[in-house]
Amino acid sequence: MCWRTPNWSAPTSVATDPAGARAAYNPRPADGTDAMPGIPACPQCGLPNTYADGDIHVCADCGHEWPGAVAETAAVAATRDVNGNVLAAGDSVVVIKDLKVKGTSIPLKQGTVIRNIRLVEDDPEHIEGNSDRIKGLVLKTCFLRKG
Ligand SMILES: [Zn+2]
Repeated sequence: MCWRTPNWSAPTSVATDPAGARAAYNPRPADGTDAMPGIPACPQCGLPNTYADGDIHVCADCGHEWPGAVAETAAVAATRDVNGNVLAAGDSVVVIKDLKVKGTSIPLKQGTVIRNIRLVEDDPEHIEGNSDRIKGLVLKTCFLRKG
């Protein structure tokens, strides 16, 4: 290195906004798990800035950890077809209307059977599966009924 930024000219990083400063070092993952409903406010400090870390609930503000209700978060994510029937991994579903598929010119025809579906974690509105002609489909459950 023939040129380095001298310490004395580095811009000062004084945070004037307490909320912004907190967000900057907030250890919450960026995958959206913090938006999960059903996580109560922190019993220690009472702030709602909480997230689930596996089976544990963690407070981002004071670092308090307490056991979470696993069943509670699992119950939220029931994947249902257009008729409200619960879909499970391995089920077969039928496409109820013609659908365009991103990334291919092959349309997915009404009546196409998708066998051996997979559920999308944390996303009850979509399933994954393969049709006879198209692999790796991600489909909205509102266009499907249980086969
Ligand atoms: Zn707390």
